[in-house]
Amino acid sequence: MADSAPEQREDAPHGAAPDDEVIETNWDEAVESFDAMELREELLRGIYAYGFEKPSAIQQRAIKPILMGKDVIAQAQSGTGKTATFAISILQKIDVGLQECQALVLAPTRELAQQIVKVVRAIGDYMNIQVHACVGGTAVRDDIRTLQNGVHVVVGTPGRVYDMINRRALRMASVKLFTLDEADEMLSRGFKDQIYDVFQFLPEKVQVALFSATMPLEVLDVTNRFMPSPVRILVKRDELTLEGIKQFYIAVDKEEWKFDTLCDLYETLTITQAIIYCNTRRRVDWLTEKMQSRDFTVSSMHGEMGQGERDVIMREFRSGSSRVLITTDLLARGIDVQQVSLVINYDLPTNRENYIHRIGRSGRFGRKGVAINFITAGDVRYLRDIEEFYHTQVEEMPMNVKDLI
Ligand code: ADP
Repeated sequence: MADSAPEQREDAPHGAAPDDEVIETNWDEAVESFDAMELREELLRGIYAYGFEKPSAIQQRAIKPILMGKDVIAQAQSGTGKTATFAISILQKIDVGLQECQALVLAPTRELAQQIVKVVRAIGDYMNIQVHACVGGTAVRDDIRTLQNGVHVVVGTPGRVYDMINRRALRMASVKLFTLDEADEMLSRGFKDQIYDVFQFLPEKVQVALFSATMPLEVLDVTNRFMPSPVRILVKRDELTLEGIKQFYIAVDKEEWKFDTLCDLYETLTITQAIIYCNTRRRVDWLTEKMQSRDFTVSSMHGEMGQGERDVIMREFRSGSSRVLITTDLLARGIDVQQVSLVINYDLPTNRENYIHRIGRSGRFGRKGVAINFITAGDVRYLRDIEEFYHTQVEEMPMNVKDLI
């Protein structure tokens, strides 16, 4: 499944990654304006109409080598414009006259795939291209029909995409560019086999692009198997946390104190929008009910809910009509809601990568953000581990936290 819940997964334990080996960036050429990227007229128009003026650091560096046909591994901090990096690259590479899938993007969750589709469509607004979200939880028949008619770009979750390939609805022969968003997650235990299953159907010469804010060494090692000499644009671990996102902890001592602590913070949560992370679906349901029984307005989402319900919750949160969302790591990665300025780790995440992804739901594209970690006595050493690993500081939450949001 594309959205396995944390309680069903065995995440890498804290302190597991060995890392005396270093794999370094080997590409640092930057193109400082969209105009200088030699993009097609309609695409350039789409970029500016979408509101972008200047490319971000990753856009300045990664678009060019992708357009040159190179395999690329692109790491950049959360919220710094990776989606548009591959969206623009894909749109430039598509032959609009050919009604066949030429770019395939895989993402770990349906919500993220749907979000990516929206971005590609919006930036490609003047190009007359067909982009399709091929994700689980939707009618198989509709998918087959759309794909058989031919679309230029498919963005999907691995299970449904593989199913569509097997049913011969999705043809791979014309795919030029294969992109994995949240690549470290996609190449980790839960997804790896499914990715390889899809990969074997791709043309031999397919170009590969990998994106994520986190690229653990073991994942970079795995990429050798299908990317012989990639361009690598990487971020050092101690540069991964964003200056704009302040990180705090609240010592709750005992598990039972978390709830009252959260209630005390409720007013702060609703200043803009907030996401609260729990480690299991059951905890999400429990906390949601408990908050609601105290008359706090919260919404919640996890991978056990039907897709219809998930779509409604996402829409309400994106529109701002709901402001506090309780969820699992299902929504730890990729989700871009600019109004989110506060993230609460009600439970500390069980792997270091997802810590970076969770707190990165706030502070999008240079905005301010605050992350608050609820720390029981037993969590203290895990928090220290995170601080050490990313060379970052997590301080006790100050009284004036509201002023920082
Ligand atoms: P990432 O994938 O790196 O986490 P996103 O691609 O979701 O980040 O981008 C984060 C936000 O920044 C989005 O809302 C996006 O529209 C915005 N953004 C991306 N590139 C630019 C740019 N060049 N100029 C202005 N805003 C941008």
